Amino acid sequence: QRRRFVSDASHELKTPLASIRLLSDSISQSADMDSATMREFVADIGSEAERLQRTTEKLLDLSRRDDGVQPDVTIVDLQQAVHGTLHLLRPLADQSGVTITCLMSEGVTVRASEDDIYHIVFNLVENAIKYTPDGGTITVSLAKAGRDAVLEIADTGVGIPEADLPHVFDRFYRVDKARSRETGGTGLGLSIVKQIVRLHAGTVTVASEYGKGTTFTVQLPVK
Ligand code: ADP
Repeated sequence: QRRRFVSDASHELKTPLASIRLLSDSISQSADMDSATMREFVADIGSEAERLQRTTEKLLDLSRRDDGVQPDVTIVDLQQAVHGTLHLLRPLADQSGVTITCLMSEGVTVRASEDDIYHIVFNLVENAIKYTPDGGTITVSLAKAGRDAVLEIADTGVGIPEADLPHVFDRFYRVDKARSRETGGTGLGLSIVKQIVRLHAGTVTVASEYGKGTTFTVQLPVK
């Protein structure tokens, strides 16, 4: 498993590096490149570097948790934590023409690190925005069910084909590679969510109807 992971990770890093190499070679080998083209190539180098940065940050994040580094655990009020994270994602939602609505119960608390809760919510809602076309809706709901806090992120987006559903939490798995690249995806977001939720003795599940929408449900033991 480790060998496969290293090989997948190397492959992920190889592609942007090859693009950067190609673009910089084009610039240095062309004697009379006009400045508009050159600026375009340099911008492309910048966005490939950004992808490398995002991927390496997420890989480091995963391996830190694999090593069992204990995060700072406190009592987290989920409604407040989710609101705080949604606030950061509003601009992206507005830009994409996607509406976010919230139905959240008060006073649902869990024992977790704030940072981990932020990662869970950020990854799931960012995906919901990325994979929901203009005019769509994302509904974030939070409730207590027995001894569990249940957080649901439902979107009216592109959905996930049934055959892909069992794999979406795998590292580097993407349903539509081209689309994921376009939206700056790394294929690591959901594997990080799963890893964090497990560390907190919770579960994360997905239900989806291709072409209609997707719902991710996170259950964490309440404190
Ligand atoms: P990525 O960085 O590619 O978004 P993730 O690990 O976050 O990687 O997600 C894995 C894949 O699952 C994505 O490439 C996408 O195909 C699919 N996916 C995740 N969330 C959604 C969603 N809300 N709607 C449709 N597809 C999704």
